[in-house]
Amino acid sequence: MHVLRLDDQLSDEERMVRDSVRAFRTGSVDPYVADWFESGTLPVRDLAREIGKLGLFGMHLQGYGCAGLNAVSYGIACRELEAADSGLRSFVSVQGSLAMAAIHKYGSEEQKQRWLPGMAAGELIGCFGLTEPDHGSDPGSMRTYARRDGQDWVLNGAKMWITNGSVADVAVVWARTEEGINGFLVPAGTRGFSRTDITKKLSLRASVTSELAFDEVRLPPDAILPAAKGLKAPLGCLSEARFGIIFGAIGAGRTCYETAVEYAKSREQFGRPIAAFQMTQEKLAHMELALGQAGLTALHIGRLKDAGKVTSQQISFGKLANVRAALDVARSARTILGANGVTLEYPVIRHANNLESVLTYEGTEEIHTLVLGEAITGIAAYRG
Ligand SMILES: Cc1cc2nc3c(=O)[nH]c(=O)nc-3n(C[C@H](O)[C@H](O)[C@H](O)COP(=O)(O)OP(=O)(O)OC[C@H]3O[C@@H](n4cnc5c(N)ncnc54)[C@H](O)[C@@H]3O)c2cc1C
Repeated sequence: MHVLRLDDQLSDEERMVRDSVRAFRTGSVDPYVADWFESGTLPVRDLAREIGKLGLFGMHLQGYGCAGLNAVSYGIACRELEAADSGLRSFVSVQGSLAMAAIHKYGSEEQKQRWLPGMAAGELIGCFGLTEPDHGSDPGSMRTYARRDGQDWVLNGAKMWITNGSVADVAVVWARTEEGINGFLVPAGTRGFSRTDITKKLSLRASVTSELAFDEVRLPPDAILPAAKGLKAPLGCLSEARFGIIFGAIGAGRTCYETAVEYAKSREQFGRPIAAFQMTQEKLAHMELALGQAGLTALHIGRLKDAGKVTSQQISFGKLANVRAALDVARSARTILGANGVTLEYPVIRHANNLESVLTYEGTEEIHTLVLGEAITGIAAYRG
């Protein structure tokens, strides 16, 4: 099990993060998460306070109540959270790497003071609205528009598939203006701003996903993020969140793998544990290889990020490779559990279903393939 013993490479501080997040999720999440998934809920406010106390929101950011830890620590936290459920990791990623990171990178001093300490403590929740009903992989074609009206801004449009959308105290919303693409902070309760939850999801059920609508939403001049100019601003935040997925996916895969190993050793057929069959061992060995390689990829990219040298192509490499690996592990683990593989009594089908969303959001499998294709050939193929 875990033949490469990659965690031996972690520093004492990184191991402490691992252990404290693990203790949190085994006590406060693991016993309940299958029920949350089944009922399609997440007790966001209660979890936010606990996660805030652990210092996990925006933990890789400096100042404003954020922990200021290194990138690998953040990755390890994501891995341990996603070992419970991808919905939990999504909640923390969106809060820290998308909403808080946007304010931290592009906000004014007043905006940072107003929002970041409360968000770091888990008292305030944020969401990040980039995707629209008709524009997902190609956000540069977004239609949400903010026009000037005197000193104010007036926002119209819609955002789709927004994690934490209906529970957020503040939405970071990306919109087209006369100058290009800009970011705006839209507090909950602003007139004309409405949210509707997306139901009937069969993936990431323990996560709030919403549609945001803006109907003549009047915002003061200081609602705009002053340093966010153009599409590269939201893409810069997405790169942070994708980094968390590189580690997070390993957590989901690891839970499936460990469940399959335990099950295979105790389940008997034809008078023997199914772990004694060569085909089961082949599957388990394949999972061990896949997760070991994913772990190496994550640690390498994490160390590059901490050295300030990581590139967006490397992040795409990691996201594509590790989510694929985790999904492969989850699907294979499911077969080892036989019929038990399709129930929420075991975590495997839940993780497998969740990973379908993880494969799609933060850049789909195809888009990250094209990023690598462009890096290899020098030719961008996004537009056919
Ligand atoms: C549970 C969940 C939570 C999410 N949370 C957020 C959030 O918090 N904030 C946010 O802004 N968004 C969020 N998203 C949206 C997510 O980022 C988008 O779903 C994703 O970017 C893909 O967009 P789309 O669904 O519109 O698919 P589309 O862009 O319509 O793509 C459909 C298919 O076409 C393929 N495709 C598109 N263009 C190309 C191309 N050039 N070449 C080859 N294939 C192509 C895609 O890869 C995909 O297979 C979330 C999504 C989910 C499922």
